[in-house]
Amino acid sequence: MDLTAYLRDIPDFPKPGILFKDISPLLADPAAFSQCIDQLAEHCTAYGPTAIVGIESRGFIFGAALAKTLGCGFVPIRKPGKLPAETISRDYQLEYGTDSLEMHKDAFKPGSQVIVLDDVLATGGTLEAAIGLCADGGAEVLAALCVIELDFLNGAKRLAPLNVPVVSLLHF
Ligand code: AMP
Repeated sequence: MDLTAYLRDIPDFPKPGILFKDISPLLADPAAFSQCIDQLAEHCTAYGPTAIVGIESRGFIFGAALAKTLGCGFVPIRKPGKLPAETISRDYQLEYGTDSLEMHKDAFKPGSQVIVLDDVLATGGTLEAAIGLCADGGAEVLAALCVIELDFLNGAKRLAPLNVPVVSLLHF
């Protein structure tokens, strides 16, 4: 099954000039969603993570299903102000201005080995901040996993200095 057939390109969303990769058709199709999770799981089994770390919000959808499939825990990384307990945060650069991500300070038990997951790898700023947060929280990051990678934005190159393997199911 070709999962790219279940993606939809939406031009000029959320801003003019952005070609948004909409995963809604993939999520709506049980066979396509199931295969997507199975493919993500195949990439994880060699690593044996103790938890999947998902980035708000589409990283939650894939991450929670993946954690259930692997039989490991799920840890959310969220936009500012959403998590109820004490948090740690990382700022990252956007095209214009900055944004930040937060994680619970006590999200990881000692010895945690995690895989960080998001739906799309674009410029890599989001994953860079998320990987940094996991390290700040005391976890070893075994790999970063994405459903879609926009190769022309060179996110993998940006992440290369972190020495974390980056795997994406679909490349554009
Ligand atoms: P970046 O930090 O530039 O790698 O952007 C990655 C984040 O922005 C991910 O959480 C994606 O959900 C979202 N994103 C960036 N570009 C796109 C796109 N073209 N289509 C869908 N989501 C995107």
